[in-house]
Amino acid sequence: MRFAELVEYLKKLEATSKRLEMIDILSKAFSESSTSEIPKMVYIFQETLLPSFYDVQLGVADKLVEKAISKAFDVAIDKVKRANSSMGDIGLTAENFDGNSARSKLDVVRVYDDLFAISKISGEGSIEMKVNRIAELLGAMSPLEARYTARFLLGQLRLGVGEATIMEALSLAKSGNRGFKSELERAYNMSSDLGRVAEVFYEKGEAGIKKFKIEVMNPIKSALAERLNSAEEILAKLGKCALDQKFDGFRAQVHKNGNNVKVFSRNQEDITHFMPEIIDAVKKLKQDKLIFDSEALTYDEDTNTLYPFQVTIQRKRKHNIEEVSGNFPLRLFVFDIMLLNNRELINEPYLKRRQVIDELFSASGTISKSKIIITDSKEEFNKFFDETVGEGLEGLVAKKLDAPYSAGARNFNWIKIKRSYKAQLSDTIDIVILGYFRGRGARADLGVGAVLGGVYDDREDMFKTLTKVGSGFSEEQFKQLKRLLDEIKLYKKPTRVDAILIPDVWVEPKYVITVKADEITKSPIHTCGREGGSGYALRFPRAVSFVRTDKRAEDSNSVKEIIEMFEEQKKVALKP
Ligand code: ATP
Repeated sequence: MRFAELVEYLKKLEATSKRLEMIDILSKAFSESSTSEIPKMVYIFQETLLPSFYDVQLGVADKLVEKAISKAFDVAIDKVKRANSSMGDIGLTAENFDGNSARSKLDVVRVYDDLFAISKISGEGSIEMKVNRIAELLGAMSPLEARYTARFLLGQLRLGVGEATIMEALSLAKSGNRGFKSELERAYNMSSDLGRVAEVFYEKGEAGIKKFKIEVMNPIKSALAERLNSAEEILAKLGKCALDQKFDGFRAQVHKNGNNVKVFSRNQEDITHFMPEIIDAVKKLKQDKLIFDSEALTYDEDTNTLYPFQVTIQRKRKHNIEEVSGNFPLRLFVFDIMLLNNRELINEPYLKRRQVIDELFSASGTISKSKIIITDSKEEFNKFFDETVGEGLEGLVAKKLDAPYSAGARNFNWIKIKRSYKAQLSDTIDIVILGYFRGRGARADLGVGAVLGGVYDDREDMFKTLTKVGSGFSEEQFKQLKRLLDEIKLYKKPTRVDAILIPDVWVEPKYVITVKADEITKSPIHTCGREGGSGYALRFPRAVSFVRTDKRAEDSNSVKEIIEMFEEQKKVALKP
């Protein structure tokens, strides 16, 4: 496909916010592409060069693209800068100076490969080299092609196309209906690489996708847990089940292939470099190939204490990792296993997988297994819960004995129960920032006075508003928020946001913060769970974290969970 044709599709996508229209546009684009073009098209629609676990970044900033525009179209750099700051859009800036009248002869693969090559340029003189390469590319393009290329370079396409929408479009384009989406989703959950899934689908068809296998070094989407609040409810749901101690660290999915080891986060980001001591320990394991799921925690050898999330997460911000790992090493607690050599375990029942864990790992050392009991007795359940909480851990995750590993799904195969649920709304809530209100009065100087926060509605693939949060941030954090949010500000309401309350500035749904509140209440101005004119809102919300790097927008709490918490709160309130 010619790049000029792809750009026409991007233009159409930009002009609509209707999901069905998006599916239609995408599927037309896919049906006109060859198999080798498909993965690249998918990545472009996902607004990336490769899935994030590959850690490929364009490494291009505003200034660099301005320079490239100036060079490509032979205009003074000051003119380009002025145009960019007045239009506030690098795409329109490039388009504006592009005097080409004809479409380019470039095809999609060529443009993608060029962009990829640009991402690989590093070292001395790399800025100059990038400017030249981008200038050459833009110089060959029509104004519309330049518009989208410039935006892509800065990660500012902002088409608002969700992954579910891409999968439905792929299914429609290849099979003539949208029904194949669930098989695609399954493969995507097993590989976290939608481009690869699309390629297999195009090459080998439906049968190929059904046979899709996990592969070492390709992260599997994390299985997630539902929540319930008592042993009775959990045992009623699962019957006899395993109770696994819940550690409050960060998730680490470990992949080993011989001497090659990688670790991925809850969101499939490559976090290998944060944990040298863990990598050494994994390399020493005898098994050739492994994929296992675990929780990483900071461990103080002197006092034999595990530190909670807040301490552990600091590691991600430290530059002197070697030093930190010496003083406060990490320990992994293995709680699931998906691959052992050539044996795929992901679809085996939990009990079988646990047997493998018991054979491979001991209860102590850098890589130890988590501690479980198997029971159907309420008394044993409560005793183990109290013991676990007494050890300073968060609670338990109950696991269904015959369930497979539910990649990418939050369902009742895993049910968490945490100590904090016992009190009224003492659980925190993760919200995604959708916009901000400018500060007034004493806050005017800080730029941001409050943020509009929302939660994810997975049924509609939309974000719904839940609360306005203006407390809990320090002055410095407000200033930092302003900088971060201005980088992702939008000139209209994001496509996937449903709101009644309108902030001064909209932003791309990207940053998650954790808040605490006194209560969940009904409210006419928020769209979370809205029915008959009223939705849900938080009473006295305050931030208890700054922007979290371990969660994506879609990982905020869900509308469903807010409604559940509201119901639970009613129960607690009813108790004498
Ligand atoms: P939370 O904030 O409650 O951890 P979350 O949204 O990050 O929630 P959940 O699915 O709700 O994720 O809870 C499961 C998380 O708990 C996992 O992502 C994992 O990191 C952690 N965890 C700790 N110990 C275990 C365990 N034994 N089994 C499964 N998950 C565990």
